[in-house]
Amino acid sequence: MTWIATLGFPRIGRRRELKRAVEGYFAGRLTAAELADAAANLRAERWRLQHQLGVDLIPANDFSLYDHVLDTAVMVGAVPARFGWTGGPVGLDLYFEMARGGRVPPLEMTKWFDTNYHYLVPEFTPDQAFALTSRKPVDEFCEARALGIRTVPVLLGPVSFLLLGKMAGGGHPLALLSRLLPVYEEVLRQLHAAGAAWVQLDEPCLVLDRTAEEMAQVSAAYERLAAAAPVKVMLVTYFGGLGEHFERVWSLPVHGIHLDLVRAPEHWDDLARVRVPDERVVSLGVIDGRNVWRADLDAVLPRVSPVLARFGGERVVLAPSCPLLHVPWDAAQEGKLDPKVRSWLSFAVQKLEELHLLRRALDEGEDGVREAWSAQRAALASRRAHPGVVRQDVRARVEAVAAEAPARAPRAVRRRLQKDRLGLPLLPTTTIGSFPQTEAVRRARADARQGRMAPEAYASFLREQIARCVRRQEALGLDVLVHGEFERTDMVEYFAEQLDGFLVTEHGWVQSYGTRCVKPPVIYGDVARPRPMTVAWTTYAQSLTDRPVKGMLTGPVTILQWSFVRDDLSREAVCRQIAVAIRDEVLDLERAGIRVIQIDEPALREGLPLRRADRALYLDWAVACFRLAYAGVRDETQIHTHMCYAEFSDITSAIAAMDVDVISLEAARSGMADLPSIAAARLSCDIGPGVYDIHSPRIPEVAEVRALLAKACTLLPPEQVWVNPDCGLKTRREEEVWPALTHMITAAREMRETL
Ligand code: GLN
Ligand code: ZN
Repeated sequence: MTWIATLGFPRIGRRRELKRAVEGYFAGRLTAAELADAAANLRAERWRLQHQLGVDLIPANDFSLYDHVLDTAVMVGAVPARFGWTGGPVGLDLYFEMARGGRVPPLEMTKWFDTNYHYLVPEFTPDQAFALTSRKPVDEFCEARALGIRTVPVLLGPVSFLLLGKMAGGGHPLALLSRLLPVYEEVLRQLHAAGAAWVQLDEPCLVLDRTAEEMAQVSAAYERLAAAAPVKVMLVTYFGGLGEHFERVWSLPVHGIHLDLVRAPEHWDDLARVRVPDERVVSLGVIDGRNVWRADLDAVLPRVSPVLARFGGERVVLAPSCPLLHVPWDAAQEGKLDPKVRSWLSFAVQKLEELHLLRRALDEGEDGVREAWSAQRAALASRRAHPGVVRQDVRARVEAVAAEAPARAPRAVRRRLQKDRLGLPLLPTTTIGSFPQTEAVRRARADARQGRMAPEAYASFLREQIARCVRRQEALGLDVLVHGEFERTDMVEYFAEQLDGFLVTEHGWVQSYGTRCVKPPVIYGDVARPRPMTVAWTTYAQSLTDRPVKGMLTGPVTILQWSFVRDDLSREAVCRQIAVAIRDEVLDLERAGIRVIQIDEPALREGLPLRRADRALYLDWAVACFRLAYAGVRDETQIHTHMCYAEFSDITSAIAAMDVDVISLEAARSGMADLPSIAAARLSCDIGPGVYDIHSPRIPEVAEVRALLAKACTLLPPEQVWVNPDCGLKTRREEEVWPALTHMITAAREMRETL
């Protein structure tokens, strides 16, 4: 009989219990012991659920209070000196301080591969020492065992852990491998002693471009680990294929290898011809762990059968393509969706059910599972036949708009026109769009959604919020104002709710970072904008002030990237449809007198294919879609964009090709580390490198902001520099935001005087 593995289960909880518990602890409502209890309950629930669903290889230590990369850094004692750690177990508060900052800045945060999950970037020094400081993997294994459940402890593999980190001075992190391995050897020994038969080592970095020297180090590392303890190692790769390194990885001395056959279907052929080492188990990632569509098991079954025949049933594992961290918990919770539509969806629970169904079909033959199998087929068929899925009107219009898209005047011309029209000072100050979503804002929204507040009352509540926000921004002295985005739950969901072709779930949350979750909408059909989406709020804000108010839109690539996308049309084609819908909004805003329009593309970079060879193609269509979203605006209308990640060096030419007037970038958290590459690109647009790290509750001092600003003004011509935070302020509290912005503006004024 074949096995079923989960690789990793969503950790945030069926109803985001983890979020509530951890935030409760942050707010002092929960003690450390209560937090530990809540976490243990959640782990128990996850294990029991997977057990009931028939999973054989149930993961342990895939749980984390904040982030599994941070857990690993803590486990191996990679705590940067500034935290004042002197060895021994890392306590809860130090752990959270590394994540969120406190007395000192936190670890940097960056996107996990091409997902919208963010991990904390480990920091190493060339003389980095490692030491095992935590029993978390062993404790969680024992915790499950006490519940009568055998688990497979999961560790982020040593190679990926190092490669995901940052070496001070820029050396290669794998130089530390031989120093790190003894810690992993020790963990493997401890897990073996505790009774673990298998240990899962995640090495997603093996699917990235890797040099032969790096691969040689991988081999050496796994030779050592194989000798450390008699546990079976399941080497798990995902998010892509192993490319030219397949053979090498295949020959590593491990008991099992997991392949992502959704992203790398070419490995089916490899599996048909590779030598099958004795005792080797192969884990087939056949159910898409990155999407929410019910799987086409009719397509999967005939591919699995020959592998089963070659390897033998007891040496084949059926698994999702990657850990299920990036899909929501359970589609059965979506009670408000039409049951037909719900039947199209597969969240973590359904994916495990699909694996189970697949196994039964393999073991018992299709006859044994006829009913469930036809239900699966019927769900797929009903989706294909649904009216909104293919709309000829939408397709024809998108073709037409894309064909006629007019070009704008050169930036120098636009610059002059906009300067005259907007009359902004040197180092103009602005924000990225959202202001704190206070308790009152969230309560009013909930009340309006549940019918406790009449639509007109809610609208006037929002107008009051906007008015208050505009007044305060004016009082602070910001130059380009925003309306505050109080009407938006989320920058993507807000648009998804108003566009045709999208559906929005109620509980479809996935972790973004720490306790922050996002609820990606689902694009199931052709996308169109039936009516204006933001014009009323923006023009209301503009009616209250003479200063320019920025219209705030989410860009097509980001909407695509932060949604679950249909799998029956290319991403490019879907993106172009969204671009045309956003363009309708841009032109309406302009017509309504809005002079500055920001089209956020924080996710443009995260959409970059993981392999370098695939990137140019993606950037081409992504940039074309972005430009389509503003095609036809007048030259005096100032187009901004915003991106929030600190690494730009590899996409500066795409940024140039986006041809905006102003770009704001995340830069504060990394101390402007990437600004030199932006400067070197000599962009023609103005640039607002973030000078206030909004991911941390810390309020920056004037001097800190000034130092960052001074750095920006030495790297860039000062007349090109804007002053703004790293990102939107919606997740911060008012008590943090207003003083921080005051400091930011003071710093800008002081800086202006020196120029
Ligand atoms: N305008 C959005 C905001 O301020 C941008 C958010 C983002 O870049 N993630 O919230
Ligand atoms: Zn941002």
